[in-house]
Amino acid sequence: MERIIREQAKCMGKEGLQNNRTKGFTLIELLVVIAIIAILAAILFPVFARARENARRASCSSNFKQIGIGVMMYVQDHDELYPAAWQPYGTSPVTQQSEWYWIDIIYPYVKSKQVFICPSSDSSQLLGRNYGANSLMLQLYGNPPFNLAALSAASSTYMAMDSGTYHINPDKVSPARTWEWLPGNGLLDASHCTAVTNPDYNKDCMTGRHFDGVTVAFADGHVKWLKVSKIHEQTLRYKAGQTSDWSPTNPHTS
Ligand SMILES: [Zn+2]
Repeated sequence: MERIIREQAKCMGKEGLQNNRTKGFTLIELLVVIAIIAILAAILFPVFARARENARRASCSSNFKQIGIGVMMYVQDHDELYPAAWQPYGTSPVTQQSEWYWIDIIYPYVKSKQVFICPSSDSSQLLGRNYGANSLMLQLYGNPPFNLAALSAASSTYMAMDSGTYHINPDKVSPARTWEWLPGNGLLDASHCTAVTNPDYNKDCMTGRHFDGVTVAFADGHVKWLKVSKIHEQTLRYKAGQTSDWSPTNPHTS
């Protein structure tokens, strides 16, 4: 009996020794765990960043959807005439500039300043400098307002899009102006952004907002994400005198 108890005590002693050995990590084990965490982080962080940008792009699309409806309501209330992109009036109610932008003009139909701000914009001056109207359609002061009846292909004509300022037209897409450009133009060719001197704005021009594209509201109010390269292709067509999605009066080919 005594011998059995002694042998049991001996075995327990061995187990106790083994238990002591498994407590804590060796350096190799620790390094393996750190390496696994680093690999997982490297895989997951870009996925999270992409998911966040997807959410911001959806929010931008929602903004443009409301803007599209606001413009349509304005057009119906004003004898089928589109609002002006810019008018040299007194202090504007929304953007607080010494001039009125289309944003100020359609604000009564939208009733939110937030819908004019792109959540992916890096520009420091947000309101009034994030979304640009196609100034071939929402005309600048001095030009007659564009009439809905003159629109040849509402579903494929650019009305407004992510932009460097409140209005944009194909003549300003390439080369960019110091205050007027297409976000993401630099993804195609950095020279498009060299005129943009403000560092915040230059980043916006160089890196773009929604992956390699921008959000666009069309003349019929529908909204779509388009690659910058697609808009550029239409810009070149416009400049070559061909039909283009920039032009509200030409018949469209795409
Ligand atoms: Zn946007």
